[in-house]
Amino acid sequence: MEKVLIIGTGPAGYTAALYAARADLQPLVIEGMTPGGQLTTTTEVENYPGFEKGIDGTELVQIMRRQVERFGTRFRGGEVVSANFKGAIPSVTLSEGDVIESKTVIIATGASAQYLGLESEQKLRGRGVTACATCDGAFFRNQEVAVIGGGDTAMEEALFLSRLCSKVTVIHRRDHLRASKIMADRAMANPKIAFIWDSVIDEVLDVAKNEVTGLRLRNLKTQAISELKVTGLFLAIGHKPNTDPFKGQLDLNPSGYILTENTRTSAKGVFAAGDVQDHVYRQAVTAAGTGCMAALEAERYLESLGQ
Ligand code: NDP
Repeated sequence: MEKVLIIGTGPAGYTAALYAARADLQPLVIEGMTPGGQLTTTTEVENYPGFEKGIDGTELVQIMRRQVERFGTRFRGGEVVSANFKGAIPSVTLSEGDVIESKTVIIATGASAQYLGLESEQKLRGRGVTACATCDGAFFRNQEVAVIGGGDTAMEEALFLSRLCSKVTVIHRRDHLRASKIMADRAMANPKIAFIWDSVIDEVLDVAKNEVTGLRLRNLKTQAISELKVTGLFLAIGHKPNTDPFKGQLDLNPSGYILTENTRTSAKGVFAAGDVQDHVYRQAVTAAGTGCMAALEAERYLESLGQ
């Protein structure tokens, strides 16, 4: 039986591992399907303290990994598919069927990009429809692309794509952006970035090519339909917490985020950190902060058991 099982390898999981390992609790970390988490799909991270010139997201998580390995953290590949937090000892089941019991579990599974849910969008995923500019932007060099969303992610994706693509059109369903002023100002000042306001995508078009050739848009104020010729569509409309394996085992909010109090969940010995329990701040540094809190809470819990 494990003492501390950590699920996820973003900044929350790594920070929890760092604190648990330094407390001599020999944590086992389940890496998940996207080792490194969302930071591996971002470009430059400029707002993580300690890196005055910014740092590449993938490099940042690689540093975190080396740091926790130094203190004896163990890693295991695979994905958690279900959990039992109702018994005396929490346990999780991995995709290959192995069951791991642990006195404490720290869930740091993060959140995943949302899609619109259009049939045409799903059909063209990986054929021009993507949710990661960093991963796929290079495929659209010198082409015209669209980004949907009005938040910081949309601005970040649009700015990144403007360096590669000939034109980037941001499509937003309202007439003002949700993004922070600094990001919005940067995107609005970029001559390669255009904006289409008050509009949604009704259909992703492929004109029998089985790859994106354009978008059918609808203006929500006038109901006018128009077409935009693009070869790529980048989704930036928010995220869904990765809590499917824990449904029915923990209290979740209506959007599926784990409800916590100082990282404690509704199940004894089970803690949650990072974006899986935070729909408000969603920053690498806040994820790391809650990872630290979860490890300290787990340590206290183990002490209360007399371990
Ligand atoms: P947000 O939730 O902030 O924004 C999502 C955007 O997508 C909104 O503009 C929303 O519209 C739009 N949207 C949602 N659903 C749909 C839909 N079905 N159809 C069309 N549009 C839709 O998510 P982000 O991922 O942008 O940001 C998440 C958090 O991460 C934020 O706190 C953000 O500040 C932070 N972040 C910070 C960065 C940085 O500082 N470098 C970079 C990236 C993210 P509406 O506005 O109408 O609700």
